[in-house]
Amino acid sequence: MAETFKAILVSRDEEKKQSLARVEMSPDELMEGDTLVRVSHSTLNYKDALAVTGKGPVIRRWPMIPGIDLAGEVVSCESGAFAPGEPVVLNGWGLGETHYGAYAGMARVKADWLIRRPQSLSASETMAIGTAGYTAMLAVMALERHQITAERGAIVVTGASGGVGSVAIALLARLGYEVIAATGRPQEADYLKDLGAAEIIARQELAEPGKPLGKERWAGGIDAVGSVTLANVLAQTQYGGAVAACGLAGGMDLPTTVAPFILRGVSLLGIDSVMAPKAIREEAWARLARDLDRDKLKAMTSTIGFEDIETAAADLLANKIRGRTVIAIDG
Ligand code: NDP
Repeated sequence: MAETFKAILVSRDEEKKQSLARVEMSPDELMEGDTLVRVSHSTLNYKDALAVTGKGPVIRRWPMIPGIDLAGEVVSCESGAFAPGEPVVLNGWGLGETHYGAYAGMARVKADWLIRRPQSLSASETMAIGTAGYTAMLAVMALERHQITAERGAIVVTGASGGVGSVAIALLARLGYEVIAATGRPQEADYLKDLGAAEIIARQELAEPGKPLGKERWAGGIDAVGSVTLANVLAQTQYGGAVAACGLAGGMDLPTTVAPFILRGVSLLGIDSVMAPKAIREEAWARLARDLDRDKLKAMTSTIGFEDIETAAADLLANKIRGRTVIAIDG
């Protein structure tokens, strides 16, 4: 008899009402792909929380196994790109959206989507980083490509206590940047300072519509919030600075003017992790293995079990989770 494994399956009825079930599946029920992976760990990103709770249109094929990130070992690979037993990581590529995802004991995927797990990172550490952390790295790399060096001035990080924000702060601080953390949770000030933030500002300071140009406060930014917050971050960026936009936790709109762009030469750098080409992913993961302080990663991470996923998803959207959450799938 074929091996079975547990999975979370999200379905929706004719009235588009979403429901979630814990099921036993066998590998032949998985979707197409040339590589079978035994999943040991996954994680909870903002997008996963939206998919599990049904509070955002993340799932685009029904039913769906959610989970956009996995770490595990290759069971078999038809193309020969990976040997059985090789440790791998997968972020995005439609996993948990259009292709059965990580909240299951096994996943069948395309070998092209997988990267080899960096030797110095454990499976659990790669999921502590997850898409949120890999996106933070992509944002740092984008600022670097734009010559925003530590000498140019401070970097503001919005949504600071969240997953992207926490990893961004730890990375930037390790690379010598002065970090200004914008948070709605003043009680997390010590946490953010321990990660490396030099200054904490209130989320509210950036939440009200402001002037097209404000006082020049930072050389750059990493923004996980979007909307009015991103508009204010742009308006307060120094001449020639750059802001990496990677999130929409505060809204998808962007009520800005062209003033920061045409009067201060500010650049808005778009960050996408889902379809990023393999070479950029490999560079980001090599950088994460090198530049992310493991003690800080540990300090920002909690681990939950498979049975805790729904509760943690609701908590994340209620802004009750700080940093990153690993899911022990085989635990
Ligand atoms: P988290 O929920 O972990 O963090 C988001 C943080 O944003 C919260 O912790 C909170 O920080 C802040 N926040 C939440 N709600 C609001 C609000 N209404 N107004 C202002 N600030 C708010 O999510 P992640 O870090 O995993 O993801 C952050 C964003 O980045 C999401 O929008 C996600 O979709 C996006 N993302 C995009 C990727 C890409 O490829 N472009 C990849 C990964 C994530 P605090 O309490 O400190 O204020």
